[in-house]
Amino acid sequence: MNILLVEDEPTVADFIRKGLEEQGYVVEVAHDGLSGEKLATGKEYDLAILDVILPGITGVELCRRIRSSRSDLPVLMLTALGTTQDKLLGFDSGVDDYMVKPFHFEELLARIKAVTRRRMQAVPPAQYKVADLEVDSYKKTVTRAGKEIVLTQKEFALLELLITNKNKVLARAYISQAVWGIDFDRGTNVIDVYINYLRSKIDKGHTPTLIHTVIGMGYTLKEV
Ligand code: CA
Repeated sequence: MNILLVEDEPTVADFIRKGLEEQGYVVEVAHDGLSGEKLATGKEYDLAILDVILPGITGVELCRRIRSSRSDLPVLMLTALGTTQDKLLGFDSGVDDYMVKPFHFEELLARIKAVTRRRMQAVPPAQYKVADLEVDSYKKTVTRAGKEIVLTQKEFALLELLITNKNKVLARAYISQAVWGIDFDRGTNVIDVYINYLRSKIDKGHTPTLIHTVIGMGYTLKEV
């Protein structure tokens, strides 16, 4: 999952970036409002975390601008201000959630998960096709080369997550949260086991293979 962080205080930006990277997120940092806007509108992110008081344009204005071009990008606002009025101003500009500084890092993680999960659930179900693999989220059916493949509920959820994020590398922690709703302890191989189940049903005996391991990063579904 790719996160854009717009925060002008280097120590705060570093603290958040390092913490998120440890959780498997990919983080890009902008130190002022305008370069934040440039990144937000020019690249694909799964979440933007914006500080309110920024050089250039404020986080609130930045959020408005992001909303006008990228209505689907979840936005989490960080601020040292905490009055009700400030919160309303943030929500009015299209912010999904709000955090008042200083905050516990665990709380930030929890909010990130809640915001991105809400967004994922808001995405209407649809049909997806990569190479000759077809997934129908309405009917909960999967076919490869026209032949129906039977998946368990979790296998289907995992495949659906991969195909709706095709070409993106998904970290294990992100997959775990999105499919199982929890973070598995590091060291368990539940994700890898399920990926192998999926591979044997989806890829075995077919070309091209679609599920790929990105060493040290996670998994991706793509047509190479
Ligand atoms: Ca600031």
